[in-house]
Formats: sequence, C-alpha cells, structure tokens
Amino acid sequence: MTSPHPLTPHLPSPLHEIRDDRFGRRGLRLVLKRDDLIHPELIGNKWRKLVPNIAAAHGRALVTFGGAYSNHLRATAAAGRLLGLSTTGVVRGQELADRPLNPSLARCAADGMRLHFVDRSTYRRKTEPETLAAILRAAGAEGAYVVPEGGSNAEAVRGCRDLGAELRGHAEVVAVACGTGGTLAGLAAGLAAGQRALGIPVLRGGFLEDGIRDLQERAFGARSGTWSLDDRFHCGGYARTTPALEAFAQDFEQRHGLPVERLYVAKLLYGLVALAEEGAFARGTTIAAVVTGRPFPEPQAAASEPGQSPP
Ligand SMILES: *Cc1c(COP(=O)(O)O)cnc(C)c1O
Repeated sequence: MTSPHPLTPHLPSPLHEIRDDRFGRRGLRLVLKRDDLIHPELIGNKWRKLVPNIAAAHGRALVTFGGAYSNHLRATAAAGRLLGLSTTGVVRGQELADRPLNPSLARCAADGMRLHFVDRSTYRRKTEPETLAAILRAAGAEGAYVVPEGGSNAEAVRGCRDLGAELRGHAEVVAVACGTGGTLAGLAAGLAAGQRALGIPVLRGGFLEDGIRDLQERAFGARSGTWSLDDRFHCGGYARTTPALEAFAQDFEQRHGLPVERLYVAKLLYGLVALAEEGAFARGTTIAAVVTGRPFPEPQAAASEPGQSPP
C-alpha cells in the first residue's frame, strides 16, 4: 500500500451553519466555509493557492516573500518540509535580521526555510526584474521558482475558483477577508450566476480593486463573477487591531467554540456583523463566511506564554 501524498486535502471543505442572533433576528443565515480544515499544515486558502504553484515548479526550489507574521511564508515552509523541497523566504524588514526570530519566522526556519531579510524599500521594488534578480542572487536562490508575495498569481487564482464552485447553491453572498485579493479573485469566478462575493480588505489603502481586476485578467482573460469590496473593517491596517475587534473575536470564540484567526478572519466576521446590523442584507439571505485560517500560534500555546492569558 502506498502512503497518501503529504499534501492530500480534505475537499470540499465542510460548511457549518452557526446560530447567532445578530443574524437570526434579521432573517439571515450565517454558514462558515471551513477552509481551515483542508489540510493540517497548508491552512485554508494557502493550500488552494500553493498546490498549483508547486505543480508548476516541477520540483524546483521555491522562493517567496512575506512579512514577519506571514501565514503564506509558514505554509510555504511547511510544504517544503513535507515534500523535501528547498524553500527560501524573503522577509520584509532588514532590522529583523538582528533580532531573535518571532514564533512565525521560527516555525519557518524549523521547517527548513532559509530566511533572507531585505530592507523595506528594496522589498517594495521586488517585482521589478532587476531588483528581483538582485534579491535572488543575494539570497542564493537563483533558478528557484518564484511565488509572489501572498502566493497570488494566475495559478493561485485559478486554484481558488474551486472554492467558489464548492459554494454553488449554498449561499447568495460569499464573504472573504482579503490580503492580496487573490482568493476573492478566484472565488468570485467560481460562483454561479446570482451569487456574489464580498471582500473585506484587512490592509489600509483602497488599492485592492485594481489588483483583483488585474489578477482576474491574468488568470481568466477577463473580469469574472460579481464581486465588491467593503473597505471599512481593516481596523487601522494589516496586523492592527482595536479593543473592539479583540473583544468581538473573544466573544465570537466563546459563543461558537471556533478559534478566530486575528489578522483576517476576525475582521471578516466583525464586518459581517456590522453589515447585518446596518441592514445591508435582505431578509432570507444566506451568507457564507470563508474561514481562511486558524490562529497562530495555536491558542493553548499562546495562553501559556506570560502576559497572554486573559485578565
Ligand atoms: C493569506 C490569508 C488571507 C488572504 O488571502 P489573499 O488571497 O491574499 O487575499 C486571508 N485569510 C487568511 C487566514 C490568510 O492566511
């Protein structure tokens, strides 16, 4: 008997309806699309985005990009360990090179990822061909297959189309938190006519719409599906939080027994509750919220660190 391939997923990911009065009293249903259960280590949309890129790499080493807490870097590092592929992570922030690794980067390193730190201005220019070539040279990653920041390219976007297809017939509105918007770009293309996708950006800036249109054009040749963004729930920007958001996430965890990932999923759910309260959805609407990730470090580990337990 052959052992299962280490990236074998659990697909389609399950749909869990949850009972929450903030939706119920407005005649709305909320279902959670549990993409966090696809694979134990390539979590959520990271599996959908990375696996097509790993196939395209044909066994070459992988190099990719991310910030100090990037879920995408951890997923790439885990894939490298599971498949025996060499991986390099180009990390934003030269100053991090002189500090102890944070838990996220420590996990990447433990999975065998080589970390290469670059200053922020070089990092911003990483898609310019000459800058990219210089970074790869300095990182010792020439000839590696380049996965862009956040893993979003045409392969990834096409991989996320299946997420939309799995949701056909299950909801009128499908909502997802957006970093690069690659997941939304693919998801929207996979939905049926009459369904729409709603993206909640977690970064500040309002530049995402063009990026998503561009990703769809590269992946499918045209803008696809019905989608829109609501830019009001980033809570100050990437990895920023507010006391209200943190209280909301803790309360949601207690009500529903679901560990809520803070960088993305908390902002998505917070936005959906606010929209429901504003009357943004017609009575009878079913809303599917895509749970794209799990907290890191796992909640038990966080609770045992000094200063991390609730008062
Ligand atoms: C990476 C990530 C996202 C963002 O996906 P994009 O395709 O970049 O928009 C959303 N949620 C979680 C938990 C993630 O790790």
